[in-house]
Amino acid sequence: LLPLFLFPSASAITAEAPYKDPSFPIEARVSDLLSRMTIKEKIGQMAQIDRSVAFPEVIRELAIGSVLNGGESAPEPGATPAMWADMIDGYQKVAMSTRLQIPVIYGTDAIHGHNNIVGATIFPHNIGLGAARDEDLMVRIGRATALEVLATGVPYPFAPCIAVCRDPRWGRCYESYSEDTEIVRRMAKIIVGLQGLPPTNHTSGYPFVAKGGRYVMGCAKHFTGDGGTEGGVDENNTVTTYKELYRIHMLPYKDAMAMGVSSVMASFSSWNGVKMHANHFLLTKILKQQMSFKGLLISDWEAVERLTNPPGLNYTHGLKAVINAGIDMIMIPFEYEKFFTTMHFLVSSGQIPISRIDDAVTRILRVKFILGLFERPMADRSLFGMFGHKKHRELAREAVRKSLVLLKNGKGDEKLLPLSKNAPKILVAGSHAHNIGYQCGGWTITWQGSSGNTTKGITILEGIKKAVSKQTQVVFEERPDEKFLSENNDFSYAIVVVGELPYAEFNGDSKELRLALDGEETIKTLCSKVKCLVIIVSGRPVVMEPYVDMMEALVAAWLPGSEAGNGIADVIFGDFDFHGKLSRTWFRRVDQLPMNYGDSHYDPLYPLGFGLQMNLSLLKSGNVTSSSSTV
Ligand code: BGC
Repeated sequence: LLPLFLFPSASAITAEAPYKDPSFPIEARVSDLLSRMTIKEKIGQMAQIDRSVAFPEVIRELAIGSVLNGGESAPEPGATPAMWADMIDGYQKVAMSTRLQIPVIYGTDAIHGHNNIVGATIFPHNIGLGAARDEDLMVRIGRATALEVLATGVPYPFAPCIAVCRDPRWGRCYESYSEDTEIVRRMAKIIVGLQGLPPTNHTSGYPFVAKGGRYVMGCAKHFTGDGGTEGGVDENNTVTTYKELYRIHMLPYKDAMAMGVSSVMASFSSWNGVKMHANHFLLTKILKQQMSFKGLLISDWEAVERLTNPPGLNYTHGLKAVINAGIDMIMIPFEYEKFFTTMHFLVSSGQIPISRIDDAVTRILRVKFILGLFERPMADRSLFGMFGHKKHRELAREAVRKSLVLLKNGKGDEKLLPLSKNAPKILVAGSHAHNIGYQCGGWTITWQGSSGNTTKGITILEGIKKAVSKQTQVVFEERPDEKFLSENNDFSYAIVVVGELPYAEFNGDSKELRLALDGEETIKTLCSKVKCLVIIVSGRPVVMEPYVDMMEALVAAWLPGSEAGNGIADVIFGDFDFHGKLSRTWFRRVDQLPMNYGDSHYDPLYPLGFGLQMNLSLLKSGNVTSSSSTV
């Protein structure tokens, strides 16, 4: 073992050090700072630890590079934006008191708005945005999300997920914009909203200078092939040729590079049996060299442990493989002592070359300089007003409107939609009609999401009540039975809202893809008695074929988020027409899966691109002919 004192040693830092001077070019600041760092400080920068273990003495003594909270609110459930800003400033104060005064970078999963904080604007999950197919909308959502995270002091949202989900049995299907690579590429424009336009002649890794000098860095994830795993099983193996991997799963990364995305997260999954985190060819040769990625390549959560099955069998081997493959920062996130001890061993025994450490730290420092963290490490409290801003809620409402897909409208020539706002008495039913938690899905306040009034928003029932006339009586019965329906037989129509329960990651893997909470029973009981509009709240297509004939109309609402009630009412009552087209194939039976557009066995219930319209202008002019369109 080489003694650690052979590596650069600590020296006194003067205020005039070039790296502290914002007038120096960023690359010069990076190399100046790097030359002053000890090996211990370099390894510290490569560590991302969970906030629950980020005590001041840990950050100070180990010179930690980054802190995160994974999929849960921080510093406690229900924390306010000010509490977040205080928390992050607290870490920053400690970091700024270390020898080199290198700020930490704080990361969180803001994947559909700033979804870990009560009161944030919750945008539809990606599957719905894929149905909306609106690049300008994506840019605006990116910007709104950037402002909401900045308002709480967060510079690093782990978004966007640019996975191309090829099998809806995958529990992360809703985090994917589409099964179609071209649609994912278009929706990846959200990066421009999050980071701003890259400067000309940039190399990837450069987020923008926002008005007022604030910055956010996006994170394209999960590189690569995460959406192509066998059986749609999370973290599984993607078996395909390099050509197909590139054509289907990697092209969105090429675009992300062109937009200057500042960080990329590696995928838990494997490609042809090799874990992505240990794939030197894809991470270093292709991503960093061929695609010219100059930003930060981060590992996923405990990915070093998960290199083996069962996890954690050989940490030393795992860490060596992951770092040497090209990962720059390790999302540890708890057992940091193991990380530090092992890193010191691997570096001093020459198993990880110092050149690799320098490359990793160069990239980490580069994004920190670009983000302006050295100059402005603290939260900008003048941005508080941006959090959950009215304009952002309006934007989320627009996103809901545009993401809805009309799959069926009426039997024969008789259309049910648009619904009348003046009906005397209507029924709203179903497990998902009045539940903010369900309409937001996973990754909302908690990792897995939950039920009920978890955050500020408007339920579908509330949206309907607001939209109809004062004279209209709206009856809500979650699960109407035969008895209820025979006693109440004067409904003009019923709106049935059913769907999936919230889930995230592997917990959402499903072979059944069925409605939860007796949704199918509700449809059967109700739609045989009353004219029904069925609205599905789900992260993916679900089994519908046997029930479609029972209903008058069918709408896919995906996981529409906090503004679902208003956005859905805007469309079903005809203030706006439907706009969304399926961003994925709606299968008939699960035994057809995987089944994607272009497959030889393609026989869907509704194909990719399907989406009807009500033709409101024709309705107004008295011409009520049909409305089918496939794009
Ligand atoms: C997920 C990532 C996420 C990370 C941090 C992991 O389990 O795969 O998408 O960014 O956790 O919460």
